[in-house]
Amino acid sequence: MTMSAEPESARSRIRAAVDELRPELIEFAADLVCEPSVQGEEGDAQALVRTRLESLGLEVSEIDASTVDGLENHPEYSDVGQEYDDRPNLLATSPGCGEGQSLLFNGHVDVVPAGDVEQWSFDPYAGEVADGRLLGRGASDMKGGVAAMIYALAALERAGIELTGDLTINTVIEEEAGGFGGSLATVLDASDAVENADAVVIPEPTGFDQWIANVGVSYFRVTVQGKGVHAAETDNGVNAMSKLLPIYSALEELHDERKTTVHDDRFEEWHEHTVSLNLGTVRAGEWASSVPDEATLGARISHAPAETREEIHDIVEATVREATADDPWFDDHPASVEWFGWRGSSARIEPSEPIVQTVQSVAETELDRPAHAKGFPGGVDSRFFVNYADTPAVCFGTGAYNIHGTDEYVPVDELVDLTVALAVLATEWCGYEVVDRD
Ligand SMILES: [Zn+2]
Repeated sequence: MTMSAEPESARSRIRAAVDELRPELIEFAADLVCEPSVQGEEGDAQALVRTRLESLGLEVSEIDASTVDGLENHPEYSDVGQEYDDRPNLLATSPGCGEGQSLLFNGHVDVVPAGDVEQWSFDPYAGEVADGRLLGRGASDMKGGVAAMIYALAALERAGIELTGDLTINTVIEEEAGGFGGSLATVLDASDAVENADAVVIPEPTGFDQWIANVGVSYFRVTVQGKGVHAAETDNGVNAMSKLLPIYSALEELHDERKTTVHDDRFEEWHEHTVSLNLGTVRAGEWASSVPDEATLGARISHAPAETREEIHDIVEATVREATADDPWFDDHPASVEWFGWRGSSARIEPSEPIVQTVQSVAETELDRPAHAKGFPGGVDSRFFVNYADTPAVCFGTGAYNIHGTDEYVPVDELVDLTVALAVLATEWCGYEVVDRD
């Protein structure tokens, strides 16, 4: 039996339900923090999620990345050196009672390592709550977000609200290492829940803004040869470091040029420039009294959503070629450019996308937050849904407090706000009926 559904009454029911669930929400988020789920060790955290989803009456399915067809040959895939045993991705759908739009909440349960625990002022894996904060590794990136998306669903049930469209909860592994066995595997697995999703929301710690675009990222190294001789005969050798210098300068110039020529308004409203080229490492020589016979420069270059990774690789390789063209040494000893490590594609959806608009209006009315639509200057899992599932995806979550550093935490009030916002978002996006429980 259903009653007419006034938005105000639905919203107040949701707020009341989240208030009732607040202690449970915090406890669940704390339990997740207690699992040290660094890359490769996500199994126990996923088991906790599974149990919670099952207790909500949901059927949970697993995606084992090692059985996903086409993953290892996918252009985006990098081998990050981990087996996938006992590290499933999870999917659970709460079926809608009608034909409303469907929504998928995605979140990663892996965390980056705690580093030197001596530098923390609390145990990163104790899940302590103090002064209104949940403390620990992953509290804001993003076990708090994972708890919020699950409790948004729990709150809807408690509030007696049935969504018209499907709501899917999807928790994944390996995001911090690139997301290949996690969200990429989930997208390539092409289950109905993913194929039919009309939008994806990922509660990464965005400070209640939205990330609707991200840059692509590639790592490369340039190696040049020299001629090693004893220091007493320095002038008879060829110093590989000297040969690297014009390349170093040319790449610095490329960074300066791209800062002023590559533009994307989603980034530049919030950041000084859209893309960057970081010269990160130099290695040369082994001994102070030998002329170094080899030098290597390691770098990270990002590219805008309007550029492709192939274009960026061509630009870097051409820059190195031009920097060495006038020096005959390179005729017989060409500089090599090697693309290594993980690489990520860029992605972008328009601010006019209905999901972006819906998140914005919910954040404004429920939280009095503007939810600016921003570009994120790094890699993020939403790109897989945008690029390979053709589904608009945004990140929207709490603030980021010391993420990837020492003393990570999240304010409990922000977790509660996020849970309310995600539940209201689901009603706005999927449609709903209020069920008379009496
Ligand atoms: Zn994260």
